[in-house]
Amino acid sequence: MKTTEKNDILNQMAQDNEAHEIAEYIWQFDSGKEWPCATVFEAKHGNETDNLAVIKAIIEILKTQNLKCGKLILGVANPEAFLKGQRFVDVDLNRCFGQTFPTLEHIAKQDSSEYKRVKVLKPVLEKTDFFIDLHATIKPSSPFMVVPNLNHDFAKHLPAFGLNYMLTLMQLIMTPLP
Ligand SMILES: [Zn+2]
Repeated sequence: MKTTEKNDILNQMAQDNEAHEIAEYIWQFDSGKEWPCATVFEAKHGNETDNLAVIKAIIEILKTQNLKCGKLILGVANPEAFLKGQRFVDVDLNRCFGQTFPTLEHIAKQDSSEYKRVKVLKPVLEKTDFFIDLHATIKPSSPFMVVPNLNHDFAKHLPAFGLNYMLTLMQLIMTPLP
């Protein structure tokens, strides 16, 4: 897909919803009720997306159904990498959110695209109660979730996703992925 077509997708998404754009390519839908705040990011890796299909689908649903509670934030996590069709531009954005951030590598690359983007994304995530981070596998696979903490309140809602496969953090540690 050409960059201009990708630009059209992003622009269309921006025009196509009633949400308040709280940062570039990050939209917030608000029910008027405070809790909870759920955030869905797509394209944290710019080459792992099917034209931002999930976020576009949610935007479509919200045209006919109001949010029942809380806030819903939808975001294109790494728009620059998405436009370039690359996993990342300078550094892997997926490595930018740990307690050790910023790492020495990032400090050395403060002018990097991802370093600047993290400064935008972090305040959004800090006010988020539930975060869904959408990725894609390299080869075809059944949809699955990685759930770090099954003791979290959110875990009781997992069946609503209708997925057959789930990895917990414990499985990730005990069963190295190929
Ligand atoms: Zn990814």
